[in-house]
Amino acid sequence: MGRKSEKMLVKLRLPRKLVDRLDRIARERGIRRSRLIASLLADWVEYYVEDRFEPFSMRLDRVGVIDKLLGEIVVVRIVRGEPYCDYCKSFTCGHARYVKKLYSRKRREILMEEADLGD
Ligand SMILES: [Zn+2]
Repeated sequence: MGRKSEKMLVKLRLPRKLVDRLDRIARERGIRRSRLIASLLADWVEYYVEDRFEPFSMRLDRVGVIDKLLGEIVVVRIVRGEPYCDYCKSFTCGHARYVKKLYSRKRREILMEEADLGD
């Protein structure tokens, strides 16, 4: 991906209360405010974009996901049985949701293979 590090500076005038909230969440997660906002916006825009994600690497408890909107490769690990995004430090971001979908698809394939073997 040649445009991987392409970033733009965007100025936004936002309500102070909203920014305070975002800052608190970002601090709690241990990520920067800009990363939190980019992730939230990408999750929102996702519904208007075709194929935002692409699996990059898949191991038992660790999936690398190419996020074409953010221009990043994001690592999602399985923590206590749930996908956890290292990039957003979140169980609920678009990356975690995507990996959850990937795994349930995989599980269904495995179950179907097992059912075939049972015949
Ligand atoms: Zn994420």
